[in-house]
Amino acid sequence: MSMTATTPAPALLRDRLARARAAAHAAGIDALVVAPGTDLTYLIGGTGHSFERLTCLVVADETVLVVPKLEAPGYAGLPTADLGVRVATWVDGENPYAMVADLLGPATQVAVGDMLPALHTLALRDALPTARQVLAGPVLSELRMRKDAAEIAGLRTAGAAIDRVHARMGEWLRAGRTEREVGADIAAAIIAEGHISVEFVIVGSGPNGASPHHELSDRVIEAGDVVVIDIGGLVAEGYNSDSTRVYAVGEPRDADVLDTYAVLQQAQRAAVDFVKPGVTAEQVDAAARGVIADAGFGEYFIHRTGHGIGLDVHEDPYIVAGNDLVLEAGMAFSIEPGIYQPGRWGARIEDIVVVTETGVESLNNRPHDLVVLPA
Ligand code: ZN
Ligand code: ZN
Ligand code: ZN
Repeated sequence: MSMTATTPAPALLRDRLARARAAAHAAGIDALVVAPGTDLTYLIGGTGHSFERLTCLVVADETVLVVPKLEAPGYAGLPTADLGVRVATWVDGENPYAMVADLLGPATQVAVGDMLPALHTLALRDALPTARQVLAGPVLSELRMRKDAAEIAGLRTAGAAIDRVHARMGEWLRAGRTEREVGADIAAAIIAEGHISVEFVIVGSGPNGASPHHELSDRVIEAGDVVVIDIGGLVAEGYNSDSTRVYAVGEPRDADVLDTYAVLQQAQRAAVDFVKPGVTAEQVDAAARGVIADAGFGEYFIHRTGHGIGLDVHEDPYIVAGNDLVLEAGMAFSIEPGIYQPGRWGARIEDIVVVTETGVESLNNRPHDLVVLPA
């Protein structure tokens, strides 16, 4: 059981459950079956860990948390009674899938959470042989990507905390240290600056910076290296930070770094400036990609421009070609174009932004310039 330190008010959760039920109904879905994970946290304020025993929230006319009796104490701190959620326990030897089938009666369309293990999904299919199974993800992400003021405040807190870590980078990043040593110091600072957990630490020095999801290695950082630092954690409110800045340890050794970096900076700015209600996710991607392609670096920008962020580090909406989703106030996502020179160096600038009624607010506010630290 991991409850966030600050569980949302019951009224807010009740509203989410009501909206989930209405959205499911509108989609012709008789029931949502939600597994432990962030969808469950979103709906009832906390989650546990699901293993071979079935735990799930069944959202239908009645909302029931089906949970093994031995796991039930972990959910006791949640406002289930306030939310009108009945807790139905089962013990080893009983068949929880038959319990769910009894709850649902003659359901014809059941939406299972994206993270419900196949083990349970297939057993539920057998217990409900006439029901069609679909994914609950599309229904729930429609809710989750439209964030309320408290959620935006959580993301703002996370953004400020990770900005404070970037501000201290000169304390740790210098020639002669390994990426792993620098990463350990950054991880400690992620906690010290206000997160409750470290979600990821990427220190991509020199050629490792050209691999976007490189994490940490024993490579010793050298004078002249360009270093990509992409870091994030979870704050007590339950929301994630995720921000990338690029540092040079002494003056960069490669002659092309400054001009190429200037293109990246311009691309990131162009995409952020483009964000407002009414534009599409793919248009934001194109705004960044166009600048990079026009400068001749198109083939070195090898990923989408961004991803939604909230209870998960990566969630809807994805800022990617082919996504014609129209952006609305309350949507939060990263803008993180990169240029990667294989075998040499890489760079990425990443801020989390939120769509406002009139435009955009950046939740990360460290300068975008290449930060040249003493070697
Ligand atoms: Zn990433
Ligand atoms: Zn990142
Ligand atoms: Zn990101």
